[in-house]
Amino acid sequence: MMRWFRADLHVHTVLSPCAAVEMTPRNIIRHAQAAGIDIVAITDHNAGDNVAAALRAAAGTGVAVLPGMELQTREEVHLLALFGKMRDFMKWCGFVAPHRSPLLNDEARFGPQFVVDETDELIRIEETMLLASTDLSLDEAVAQINEWGGVAIAAHVDRPMFSCLTQLGFIPPDLGLAAVEVSRNTKPGTAREKYPRIGRLPIVSSSDAHTIDDFISGPKTMFLAETPTLAELRQALTGEGGRRFRDPA
Ligand SMILES: [Zn+2]
Ligand SMILES: [Zn+2]
Repeated sequence: MMRWFRADLHVHTVLSPCAAVEMTPRNIIRHAQAAGIDIVAITDHNAGDNVAAALRAAAGTGVAVLPGMELQTREEVHLLALFGKMRDFMKWCGFVAPHRSPLLNDEARFGPQFVVDETDELIRIEETMLLASTDLSLDEAVAQINEWGGVAIAAHVDRPMFSCLTQLGFIPPDLGLAAVEVSRNTKPGTAREKYPRIGRLPIVSSSDAHTIDDFISGPKTMFLAETPTLAELRQALTGEGGRRFRDPA
């Protein structure tokens, strides 16, 4: 039996220095449940330490959490790395960590980076500056995500900063991206015309939320699938087995 799932594949928690303190995993899940958001990918900058808390907070709520990260590559491209299994995601996090900038976060300037548990208790403050480029290239990042069974999505390609289009001027066609994402700035139905370089890649839209208001009001993508899993979403993006998604852009 297939049904439509409402998915937000780009959500920041309090681990991202730019996110509001209300963006704890527990609060995000609580609001997802109330607003009928079925699938939430947790995607903090260059780190994944709040994903486990989101998974625990979501247990029994009917909200599916996808482990994810918004990687900043050495080309300053933002890339969403989504995984279906925590084991694969942990491998990815371990792979990324030594490639992060050695600089420490400037809390006063960028904001604090909180690692919390599923009850909003503070576990620790991440001191590495997460809002910086790693020394991973876009190429090697996408290849590694795909090798470990993940899904790579070029983030906010319509934004003037940190986008594949602004940093590279194009979207390498053989990169291995599963989709590109456009932000709320692009009106539904206009992305392919406005950004012809997207080509034939599937287009999704997510909130890129840093506040609860953004999370509730931001764009979502609808997926027709049997279960709210990454494997099913991947099939929906390519239209396999009757699964599909509604191209929001
Ligand atoms: Zn971004
Ligand atoms: Zn983001």
